[in-house]
Amino acid sequence: MGLTLEEIKRYSRQLVLPNFGSREQNRLKNSKVAITGAGGLGCPTAAYLTLAGVGEIHIIDMDRVDLTNLNRQFLYTPQDVGRAKAEIAARRLGEVNPNIKIIAINEKITYDNAFELLKGYDAVVDGTDNFPVRYAVNDACAVNRIPLFHGAVLMYEGRAMSIIPRETACFRCAFPEPPPPGMVPTCREAGVLGSMTGLVASIQATEAIRHLAGFEIALKNKLLIINADTMEFDTVRLKRREDCSACGKQFVSKPVLEVCETRQEE
Ligand SMILES: [Zn+2]
Repeated sequence: MGLTLEEIKRYSRQLVLPNFGSREQNRLKNSKVAITGAGGLGCPTAAYLTLAGVGEIHIIDMDRVDLTNLNRQFLYTPQDVGRAKAEIAARRLGEVNPNIKIIAINEKITYDNAFELLKGYDAVVDGTDNFPVRYAVNDACAVNRIPLFHGAVLMYEGRAMSIIPRETACFRCAFPEPPPPGMVPTCREAGVLGSMTGLVASIQATEAIRHLAGFEIALKNKLLIINADTMEFDTVRLKRREDCSACGKQFVSKPVLEVCETRQEE
């Protein structure tokens, strides 16, 4: 499947990049990506994948737009309050780039359905806002061997890491168990700044796009921690664990229970 003249013009600013040509653009065009969550991280990651020309994007979220989302989730307007996020995001982004296919999946991701839901993708971009879903997404991607681009933001801290199953550390290699309920405040209690979600989401999207286009990526076996107070970017080295319950020798199902108010980051 080649590129049309319209596509060559639309993507011309990336097609002139060193090592980026029609072969790389075609790889993006032939890619199918899932975004788990259409919130603070999901809106910008979905937008950048749309703009870059990723051929098929599935936005998975069952939440409805709330007025408190509007300090960071820029795909929604006050008129959208109460409406399904995945559908609005898919429609709006479809208008931005009609060349690609954007599908809204209005479904809640759980440990029970994640393994079926996250199948057949070339990459998953993590825009989840709570630990039960984040671990479900990690474990499903590990088992289904789908590259996962993780990001999280809370208060003035952002985090990102890129996971290539069977090759690099997964989220569970780094954090085998979630913190006890109540240890990490919710974003409702602690707050989140829209520009911080945008910063982390841009990093996730850049890593995902580069990986899909066939480039080497930077955040393998590394957890990037961004401190907005100091604007220091630190990386913590990670190592794959043989005994990891998700990506190690033997998969062990370890659902993280949903306790009320576990929502904390996005
Ligand atoms: Zn692991």
